[in-house]
Amino acid sequence: MKSDAATKIVIVGGGSGGLKLATRLGRRYRRDADVAVTLVDGTLTHVWKPLLHEIAAGTLDIHEDECNYLAHARRHHFRFVWGRMQGLDTARRRIVLEPLDGNGDGNTVPTRELAYDVLVLAVGGISDDFGVPGVAEHCYRLDSAPEAERFRRSLLEAYLRAGQSGVTPEPGDLDVAIVGGGATGVELAAELDKMRHELNEYGAVGIDTVEDTRMTLIERVPRLLPGLPEELAASTERELVARGIDVRTGEAVSKVTAEGVYTASDEFIPACFSVWAAGIRGQAFLSEIEGIEVNRRNQVQVKRTLQTTTDERIFALGDCAACPLDDAGSGFVPPRAQAADQQSKFLAAQIPRFLADRELEHYVYKDRGSLVSLDDTAVGTLMGALMGNVNFEGWAARFSYRMLYRSHQRALHGSFRTLVLWISDIIGRRTKPRLKLH
Ligand SMILES: Cc1cc2nc3c(=O)[nH]c(=O)nc-3n(C[C@H](O)[C@H](O)[C@H](O)COP(=O)(O)OP(=O)(O)OC[C@H]3O[C@@H](n4cnc5c(N)ncnc54)[C@H](O)[C@@H]3O)c2cc1C
Repeated sequence: MKSDAATKIVIVGGGSGGLKLATRLGRRYRRDADVAVTLVDGTLTHVWKPLLHEIAAGTLDIHEDECNYLAHARRHHFRFVWGRMQGLDTARRRIVLEPLDGNGDGNTVPTRELAYDVLVLAVGGISDDFGVPGVAEHCYRLDSAPEAERFRRSLLEAYLRAGQSGVTPEPGDLDVAIVGGGATGVELAAELDKMRHELNEYGAVGIDTVEDTRMTLIERVPRLLPGLPEELAASTERELVARGIDVRTGEAVSKVTAEGVYTASDEFIPACFSVWAAGIRGQAFLSEIEGIEVNRRNQVQVKRTLQTTTDERIFALGDCAACPLDDAGSGFVPPRAQAADQQSKFLAAQIPRFLADRELEHYVYKDRGSLVSLDDTAVGTLMGALMGNVNFEGWAARFSYRMLYRSHQRALHGSFRTLVLWISDIIGRRTKPRLKLH
């Protein structure tokens, strides 16, 4: 049992970085009554964000790959508090949680405060609409599991309605436009293509989901996957085009309406479903709280120790943090799961140093490369000290991509439970439908 006078480490955001940090610190201080670790999240379950395109396409069931915070906290010796942070009182060292109304039925838990001695902000980011008109009103986004699930249901229901009506769909009626040709947009396009083929195999929808639906992927710069080498981007584009996806590179989107997407070259792409998968910025509430400094994308400014520039007791990691790559001004750590993971490992050692008044270290980002899934295949680069940079595609890249998730699970659950989960997934694939159809 932790004493009331225990030093309070509060982590806000149980995503790729925050949940692993809480797990690591929970284990570290499990026998220490003088340090209490608390995780705060606005939802009750964790879903690894790089899986969201699979949830959006129904190729992964949201309920099968989520981790329940309360159960996980008990197993790993930290406390979980359900609530969304909305404010911060640095003078009194308290965070403020907005009223909680989980069902939207008016039964609220009022605003609460939570005291901290060390605070870690790990609230992730949201896609950046760059001020393009109509995005907020008409675009789906993959910023959270509920949003990905809402998109999946709407698309499936639109297909079913079209099938029931008996009328052949007009162009635009069932079409999807994905804005953003980075990893998220490319992975979503490939997964949705798999979804429409699977639906046809089920034969249950009543329309030809391959022939009657069109998919367009729009990217502002002249190539897909700007983070990957040119030849991998080119082979990805060929692969998508071969699957019947209309790829438009070098096309900026100027406006989105309920009927579709307008480009800067005045073209109109009809689409009933527009998905915004471009850019990343910090959440709006971060710029409204006093006591932290944010950049123009609302990301919290941190030093290389991951402490905020304004308060040494407040750290930030992952997509919500703007962390310099070095002291020479070479740029900032990219918003990736691997960065959030590395920073959570780093803070699991840095925070104990901070509490013991020892000298703090500088975080150094190690780029291990990137992998992009194209459902049954993948493309990517791996970077290693021994072999240098290796570009690869096909089954080996796909296997490495899958291993990223297993490694995430291993950090959370340990090797044995990950193995059990893996086996159960293999069995599940043989016994359950390949698509979530409800
Ligand atoms: C479809 C998709 C595919 C991706 N694929 C890859 C990939 O292959 N490789 C890669 O490296 N990266 C990938 N990424 C990026 C990667 O997911 C993120 O960089 C990573 O998840 C960031 O981790 P994080 O801990 O900073 O935030 P997140 O994982 O986003 O977690 C943030 C958490 O904070 C919680 N939260 C938010 N606001 C509040 C609040 N106010 N109060 C309390 N809790 C709050 C949220 O509920 C969430 O649990 C992908 C992203 C997407 C969307």
